[in-house]
Amino acid sequence: MPEKLKYYQDYNELVEIMQKSGRSYDYELIERAYKLAEEMHGDQRRASGIPYILHPTTVACILAELGMDSESIAAALLHDVVEDTPITLEEVTKKFGSEIAILIDGVTKLGKIPYSSREEQQAENIRKMLIAMSNDIRVIIIKLADRLHNMRTIECMKEQHRRDKALEVMEVYAPIAHRLGIRAIKEELEDLSIRYLDPVGYAEIERQLELKSKDRLNFVAEIKQQLYDRLKDEINNVYIEGRVKSIHGIYKKTYMKGRTMDQIYDIFAVRVIVDSVADCYNVLGVVHDIFKPLPNRFKDYISTPKPNMYQSLHTTVIGREGIPFEIQIRTWEMHYTAEYGIAAHWKYKEGITKKNSLDERLAWIRKMLENQSDNDSTDIVRTIKMDLVPEEVFVFTPKGDVLSLPNGATVIDVAYAIHSEVGNRMNGAKVDKRIVPIDYKVKTGEIVEIMTAKESTGPKRDWLNIVRTSEARSKIRLWFKREKRDENIQEGKTQLEAEFRRLNINVPEKELPEFLADVMHRQNCNTIEDFYASIGYGGIQLWRILPRIKENYFKKYTVNDNEPIVVIKDEIPKKKVSSGVRVAGLDDCLIKYSKCCNPLPGDDIIGFITRGYGVSIHKRSCSNVPKDISKCPEPDRWVNAEWADHIANETFKATLRISATDRTGLLADITNQLSAMHLFIHNLNSRESKNGTAIVEISVTVNGINHLKTVISKLSGINGIVSVGRS
Ligand code: MN
Repeated sequence: MPEKLKYYQDYNELVEIMQKSGRSYDYELIERAYKLAEEMHGDQRRASGIPYILHPTTVACILAELGMDSESIAAALLHDVVEDTPITLEEVTKKFGSEIAILIDGVTKLGKIPYSSREEQQAENIRKMLIAMSNDIRVIIIKLADRLHNMRTIECMKEQHRRDKALEVMEVYAPIAHRLGIRAIKEELEDLSIRYLDPVGYAEIERQLELKSKDRLNFVAEIKQQLYDRLKDEINNVYIEGRVKSIHGIYKKTYMKGRTMDQIYDIFAVRVIVDSVADCYNVLGVVHDIFKPLPNRFKDYISTPKPNMYQSLHTTVIGREGIPFEIQIRTWEMHYTAEYGIAAHWKYKEGITKKNSLDERLAWIRKMLENQSDNDSTDIVRTIKMDLVPEEVFVFTPKGDVLSLPNGATVIDVAYAIHSEVGNRMNGAKVDKRIVPIDYKVKTGEIVEIMTAKESTGPKRDWLNIVRTSEARSKIRLWFKREKRDENIQEGKTQLEAEFRRLNINVPEKELPEFLADVMHRQNCNTIEDFYASIGYGGIQLWRILPRIKENYFKKYTVNDNEPIVVIKDEIPKKKVSSGVRVAGLDDCLIKYSKCCNPLPGDDIIGFITRGYGVSIHKRSCSNVPKDISKCPEPDRWVNAEWADHIANETFKATLRISATDRTGLLADITNQLSAMHLFIHNLNSRESKNGTAIVEISVTVNGINHLKTVISKLSGINGIVSVGRS
């Protein structure tokens, strides 16, 4: 048990940390919180057998060391009582007030979020956490401390549990700690996670660090001395420290970038802390005077801070025996921000922290919440993961504003980072005054000018594959969604109006919503816009809804003058008609002989009432005539028809199909026969089929069906003709 106890701190240690800090705390409040937690957790034990109360006490110690306020420390002491003991949130509120109760409730809620490694699920969690964070950022800081302590003591858990938690910490909590700028927690969380995610890799790095630890200590001590000797006369209050990079930092470079330990420049870093920004640059000058700087390794995060407010000068130089190492130069204020990030607001709110820097730090949370409006949760995961890429790029607008973008961002990303309207109207870009292609990836220090059209031409679809930021991606998608909707509404309206014209449906514009209400309701459309959009998009198929619309129209708008056509069976009027057929129900009408079956007098026929082209006549046996008319979609349009009496003298065009064994003179014999019968040939076509048979198709004008029969029998008599029939 003593071995396990080293990860736990008790109440005396908490008091000691607070007293040593020299800050004022509400000791009465904190002691009351501790007493209640101790009483409520009672005999509860951790999985390791340690008394449970030591867990919240240690979490409170972590927060005290971060410099968090009395309320956060009290809430940390009580963070598990509502969840794990009989006490309710109401009772806590009565005893400690709503501020502390809200913090506890927030932490409890975060704890209830189930973690799944499926991206979608994870994004959901992250969003909930962000929302909690935006209410009171202290909730997430307490949660980070809670998770940190749980990770320190996870050894006694089962392996699967350890791995799951480690993955969650690596993908969710460490990035948030990074975003909040709390380096101390971020690095410890990452080191603990990698220890369980890759125990072998972790052990190997530990072993190698151990191997040369004595050399390294000497090396660092030497450099510190060298720097101190030169700086002490030039700059007041110089503080120099040396440290080994976090194991996760080394892990990333060795395993992910394939470097060996000797190739990593900054396994250890020397940090110089001074009083003013001017001193930082003075120190840099001295450093580059003593040591040879490596080219392209200097980074000025003072003039262009990282999005998590991190500021420092970084340079890599070559020391004794050609060993490169990194030197970080910063002021104390920058140091606190780098170590404690957002927590520094509470630690140093008396004076050091700039007035509105908390707002600046919170800006990213708001930005991310805004980007959620598209409800695309995978994008949020992308955002968080993208933030893990350590190198951001910084570009200038022509006005001199600095924009921070992820590595690989294009000029389109820049446009959308400025404003969505700038992105939507973008038609080109200049970098350092030269025109660049639209997929140009911007680099730090470049001046980017976005060229825009007066009218919004809108983004192109392939921009979605070019952009790097989720902000740009979601803004482009939003544009298409909106634009497409307008297009869809217009298209749907046009389609429906065309159908109405064709069907002779006339409803005043004003009455349309009411007239269509029934059909809209059946299609789950709330507004006529939705209805049009669905038609335009193809979600509603017009042919499915038109019969009902027609029915409604007849019920509502037609009383006498537009009665549907009724089929009068077997009651074809016997009076004379001008065309060759009589049609049931219609005195006289335009008659058209359908091309599909080419009916001739004597054929059994039927009529079809077309829209605007009179009645078309088909053979009963035509494949376009439904077998059972009563069951077809529009039975009332099929009408009985028969040939008029005088039709015997009517002339018709008939197409004959002749097959024959091919021989010279065949076509001549056929045409001779036809001209001998005084037939006019409209069209003649001949070809050879695969088995050598000649096929001749011929259109002629005949006087009725009897005449046609004669023609067929005459042709059949020609030598070599196998068959003659109507095609
Ligand atoms: Mn806990």
